[in-house]
Amino acid sequence: MATIGIPKGMFFFEYSSIWEEFFKILGFEVILSQDTNRKIMDDGIKCCSNETCLPVKVFHGHVMSLKDKVDYVFIPRYQSTGKNEYTCPKLCGLPDMIAVNLGDQIKILEIKINMNSCRDETKESLVKLAQTLKIDSEKVLKAFNATWERHTQLMAKKNKANVKKEVNNKNVIILLGHPYMIYDNFISMRLIEKLERKNIEVFTPWDIDYETKRRNAHPYQGKTFWDIGFELLGSAFTCAKDERVKGIVYLTPFACGLDAFIMEFIELDIKSKNQGLPILKLTVDEHTGEAGFDTRLEAFIDMIG
Ligand code: SF4
Repeated sequence: MATIGIPKGMFFFEYSSIWEEFFKILGFEVILSQDTNRKIMDDGIKCCSNETCLPVKVFHGHVMSLKDKVDYVFIPRYQSTGKNEYTCPKLCGLPDMIAVNLGDQIKILEIKINMNSCRDETKESLVKLAQTLKIDSEKVLKAFNATWERHTQLMAKKNKANVKKEVNNKNVIILLGHPYMIYDNFISMRLIEKLERKNIEVFTPWDIDYETKRRNAHPYQGKTFWDIGFELLGSAFTCAKDERVKGIVYLTPFACGLDAFIMEFIELDIKSKNQGLPILKLTVDEHTGEAGFDTRLEAFIDMIG
């Protein structure tokens, strides 16, 4: 049986378990890349143009680290994960970017996730994957449906469990950013750990239930928009009304077009409603020094008291 590599970047932070489980059900050996480190980042940077955002560069490094260990590298094409919700063009085109930059060094396996209108595209991509791996397509469809269903149920349960977090009189900060930014310890420079060491309770968008975020993402409800936009705007506006929350930290990679808009919308809304919630923007790229990053964070923590 072939060996499948899964890079620990981008989609991995929200969907890792389903893909690992999916390939294991089909009988394949799965190898995950290591956690992000300096070498992975440096290798990724060498493959990409300067204008590429940091997480995509890092993702290239993860793929590079797998290239000699596996038969195929799995790179899903997330286009849409819900009705009227689309991903960033770089996520939609991630398998193409990797094929252009590294295609002669690896074999890519892809599944297209389009939950807005074209579920048939997902099915077609699963049939194609079955042909590539020379296995029965019915078996692949069944494994996909089972793992996706389990993932959906797990997320629903997690959301319900987290909607009202106990904070034990601690100050709370809402940490905004893409999951592949805030949950990657190397890229985020262990930001969550640093805040928690200062006795701060950290909320992230994934601590707030889906319906609340969509309801509060005014005025974008019902419109076609980025899924991460709903997540971040909805979380910021939910937390702005929560008196436990003393500030917003927004972690963003240099060159993220989506964040440039979303951050602006959040700042304008909070200022216009005079909610007075302090906001710290932390922009990181491959040259960001940890000392300067920590100094800004500590000044912010002192300010919110
Ligand atoms: S949303 Fe931003 S960080 Fe994520 S892939 Fe797109 S440009 Fe890069």
